[in-house]
Amino acid sequence: MPEYPMSPLAGQMMDQPLLISSIIAFAARHYGDSEIVSRRVEGDIHRYTYRDCERRARKLADALEHLGIRMGDRVATLAWNGYRHMELYYGVSGSGAVLHTINPRLHPEQIAYIVNHAEDQILFFDLTFLPAIEIMARSCKTVKRYVALCGREHMPRETSIPALLCYEELVEGGSEDYAWPEFDERSAASLCYTSGTTGNPKGALYSHRSTVLHAYASAMPNALNVSAADVVLPVVPMFHVNAWGLPYSVPLSGAKMVYPGAALDGKSLYELFEQEGVSFSAGVPTVWLGLINYVLENDLRFSTFRRTVIGGSSCPPAMMDTLIDRLRVQVVHAWGMTEMSPLGTACTLMGKHLQQPPEAQRAVLRKQGHAIYGVDMKIVDDDGAELPWDGATSGHLLVKGPWVVSGYFRGEGGEVLQDGWFPTGDVATIDPDGYLAITDRSKDVIKSGGEWIGSIDLENVAMAHPAVLQAACIAVPHPKWAERPLLVVVRRPGMELRREDLLAFFEGKVAKWWIPDDVVFADSLPVGGTGKIQKNKLREAYQQHRLPSA
Ligand code: AMP
Repeated sequence: MPEYPMSPLAGQMMDQPLLISSIIAFAARHYGDSEIVSRRVEGDIHRYTYRDCERRARKLADALEHLGIRMGDRVATLAWNGYRHMELYYGVSGSGAVLHTINPRLHPEQIAYIVNHAEDQILFFDLTFLPAIEIMARSCKTVKRYVALCGREHMPRETSIPALLCYEELVEGGSEDYAWPEFDERSAASLCYTSGTTGNPKGALYSHRSTVLHAYASAMPNALNVSAADVVLPVVPMFHVNAWGLPYSVPLSGAKMVYPGAALDGKSLYELFEQEGVSFSAGVPTVWLGLINYVLENDLRFSTFRRTVIGGSSCPPAMMDTLIDRLRVQVVHAWGMTEMSPLGTACTLMGKHLQQPPEAQRAVLRKQGHAIYGVDMKIVDDDGAELPWDGATSGHLLVKGPWVVSGYFRGEGGEVLQDGWFPTGDVATIDPDGYLAITDRSKDVIKSGGEWIGSIDLENVAMAHPAVLQAACIAVPHPKWAERPLLVVVRRPGMELRREDLLAFFEGKVAKWWIPDDVVFADSLPVGGTGKIQKNKLREAYQQHRLPSA
């Protein structure tokens, strides 16, 4: 880390470290009655306030201290979105220990690898994951205690898990007199491993400072625009880059929080949205697919839901149009990554766009958006030379900022920065107004005769066809062009669609040489732990596919 020179004249403001505990302490004091509502894995709805949450988080922090947890120790969670998980967010990090949120959808071997790599001391888990933990516990060498996130009445009667504790009893045993400790804001606060499609996952280790700054910046109007008048339901899991920071940005804004637990199907989500008056939400496109289909198929409408953030993978324009035009839900398209805490850009309009016709505004909203203050970005060619912001030239995207990683946990992957910039692995254009459009992951880009074809553009066209439910475009080897695009499509149930008709649908919408060479129909697409389509799996599956043009 660089050392910066200090001016002989120091500022005279209070030197108060930016600590995660200050967020929940603020919410408890200034928005004490704002509610946190959770659907529990036990099946019922639980409700309490920020005041209750902060008190229980302090009791938890005290209990952790009695279990021998010290500053910097890692404490893991395998849990859905819920109030107990939120207490862990604050109780663990607030005490100076490091919260390690694990994605339960990973393969058990990968989870054991991550637990051992992080050297987790305690593992808290929702009862849903009891069978998985029973299998994994023997391989998790560093874990001394397991804690089931439930009350005594729901504790498993027989289990092979050693030293299993009950969460409610643990919190009950903690002292209410516990006071949040103060320490250096650059201390580690939480740890999140990348989804890692190739090789082992790598850890992004966030600090208190980076988390608080990210929470401030992401709540701003040009980003997620969270206010005390909102009711926020994060569908994005608390194990996917800290639910995009919402468990921090929502309490600092004083908004009511609604957690959906494990029930992420369209019906359960819709009912919770309506019952609790949800105004704002956030999630990956695959989640919205389920919710939108449920609402349209049952001819329903949202009565309070007005705005959602969609990110994690590209939001198909057809999905955006349905949300805005048919369901009256504004869409904020956002881009980021685990290594960026995660928010980098969010797409909201500038004043000058408001004078433009609706179609022109929509074209802006389809992009991944504008950098938020705190993030700088640039695009470069293969030799690292910076490329123009003309909205057409695409290049490798690099970022920097106080909530971007400087390296991975325990030095994995060695030196990752290039001249102080983090290479995102994404390919993008930036327009003269500073709006970013992701054309591809560099690993997914299709290299046809030395030129790049962006798979996202092709998927967006396919998804606009009324008979297409899901589409993914991948590179397939070609004897003449090196690679050509192959479209893998899931049809909408009950709808007919022929290969020729779908290919004809591309005409006039993209350059002729971009049109996919072939279409294959599948029953479903492989989806990874964070809800993204796994193109590496598709490439493996269709490596031998013989294109008609080959
Ligand atoms: P993760 O760290 O798992 O959140 O993955 C980060 C990656 O997801 C980014 O580097 C992008 O490739 C992709 N991604 C995230 N948001 C978007 C978006 N709005 N559009 C396209 N790709 C996205």
